[in-house]
Amino acid sequence: MFESLADRLQQALGEVRSRGRLSEEDVERALRQVRLALLEADVDFRVVKEFTARVRERAIGTQVLASVNPAHQVVKVVADELTELLGGTTSEFVLPKARPAVVVLAGLQGSGKTTAAAKLARYLRAERGLDVALAACDLQRPAAVEQLVLLGGRADCTVYERGTDATPVEVAGWALGRAREEQRDVLIVDTAGRLHVDDQLMAELQAITERVRPHRVLLVLDAMTGQDAVNVATAFAERAPFDGLVLTKLDGDARGGAALSVKAVTGRPIVFASTGERLEEFELFHPDRVAQRILG
Ligand code: GDP
Repeated sequence: MFESLADRLQQALGEVRSRGRLSEEDVERALRQVRLALLEADVDFRVVKEFTARVRERAIGTQVLASVNPAHQVVKVVADELTELLGGTTSEFVLPKARPAVVVLAGLQGSGKTTAAAKLARYLRAERGLDVALAACDLQRPAAVEQLVLLGGRADCTVYERGTDATPVEVAGWALGRAREEQRDVLIVDTAGRLHVDDQLMAELQAITERVRPHRVLLVLDAMTGQDAVNVATAFAERAPFDGLVLTKLDGDARGGAALSVKAVTGRPIVFASTGERLEEFELFHPDRVAQRILG
């Protein structure tokens, strides 16, 4: 996860780390390297600017440079700010007591949405002992329904599907009715993605959310797509609000751009990280642990 960003940032801070005393110029030099590393990792330039400004303000205070171990203090400031950028505290995924709690998953085609729906179902069943059902409402991508049936089966969860005979809104409403009758704890609705954000995608998503009135809406973003993922999140935030993010494909050498920009740009936290194709490769996103891992 973020190997090249981690390498670059560790390199940027390497010189600082090796010194007993630090001048303002030393810190400025390291900050220039940090800035370049973040831009190369495809982090939004406004986010980079604010980040380096905050680190500079905190690191060039006299107390830091005059402290017993200034290098340690400067690296700690970077670590703290990186944690903040990644979202600060872990966003526990709290579901309401309502039965079923309804969660809608949205995102572009190929983002890993259908896989994430099944992963979330498995997570809630295995980690929290909840009875979870999935609703197959992605009727855009050929084979998405079968894929959900297959993965849902592997996750040991019920999948409500009607093939492609009904409209997505009809399937969603029908699935909610069944989940109520069968007293499921959670209903996860997989919705259609498209290759780009477009009006039809947004209209369909809005119609589904009006029909099932979800308690949580999660946007699934492919972390490998860097700044594009942030643009997608911004477009969704304007038209179809979501309250948390799932970042997928963090097992590849994601450049880091999406993870580091998206909270600052959208104000919505990263809730889950998907780190592989297997259903178990899915976990709550812990900003502090990720920051530690990046800084080594
Ligand atoms: P959807 O079109 O958004 O529903 O996307 P899918 O769920 O079908 O995922 C698209 C591809 O990405 C599939 O081949 C998945 O196996 C793969 N995929 C999903 N999540 C991850 C992940 O976290 N890591 C990796 N390496 N592959 C993933």
